[in-house]
Amino acid sequence: MSGHTDMTLVNDEGIRIDGRRCDEKRPIKIEAGVLKNADGSCYLEIGKNKVLCAVYGPRECRPRHLQDPTKAIIQCKYNMETYSVSDRKRPGTDRRSVEISKLISEALSNVVQVELFPRASIDVYIEILQANAGTRCAGLTAASVALADAGIPMRDLIPAIACGKADNHVVLDLNKEEDNFGQADVPLAIVPSTDEIVLLQMDGNMTREELDHGLDMAFGAAHEVYDMQKAALKKRYSEIEKKEGATDE
Ligand code: ADP
Repeated sequence: MSGHTDMTLVNDEGIRIDGRRCDEKRPIKIEAGVLKNADGSCYLEIGKNKVLCAVYGPRECRPRHLQDPTKAIIQCKYNMETYSVSDRKRPGTDRRSVEISKLISEALSNVVQVELFPRASIDVYIEILQANAGTRCAGLTAASVALADAGIPMRDLIPAIACGKADNHVVLDLNKEEDNFGQADVPLAIVPSTDEIVLLQMDGNMTREELDHGLDMAFGAAHEVYDMQKAALKKRYSEIEKKEGATDE
């Protein structure tokens, strides 16, 4: 987020470098139940981001000192693969991945009915296979689908998407160039049934009016992502039903 560049991020016609209008999100693909050995899983693409999420649990919480006698804890591990970015990323945990893991766990604990599973752990593994800005939103969006796919009781799903500012335009769903050279990046995650915000960060600068406009776009887009999450889960359930029907015969 340097805010200083000679690169044109939005041209005179209001078109961005990847051909999108300012209020357009990147193409999204969501698939639930892609891994056989996890309790729940999801594969998600948004633009050039590729994310895989696997869920285990609820299961006995280990290490045991982390157990909470009143509810389950959500242990999330966000990991960016070494090959996910153009310069090889140093493998392993760094400060950024610890922070993102924590904020995704906290967002998810707003919708997962953790009180139903005292002393348990629900483990969420998010692997960023390819990164192009917006991976925390992509990871969180995939994680709630994977949790639902695992059959874990939830109040709602969590769709997430960013808004921000590039070349003095308020834009939706920043790509890598806009994230690097734009003026602001604002990831947002919501609980659609109540429009509660469960994640909101801001890096850069925007006027209050611009932020209001950006959030309007992001809320609208998050509801569209929500429809895609539900469609992915419906498709998964109908596949399971078909399989079960076939084995009954
Ligand atoms: P987000 O992916 O949620 O937007 P950031 O704003 O921290 O999170 O990162 C923006 C983008 O910068 C990432 O999606 C990725 O493309 C790139 N990036 C982040 N960390 C690294 C890294 N260690 N090496 C190379 N690129 C990175």
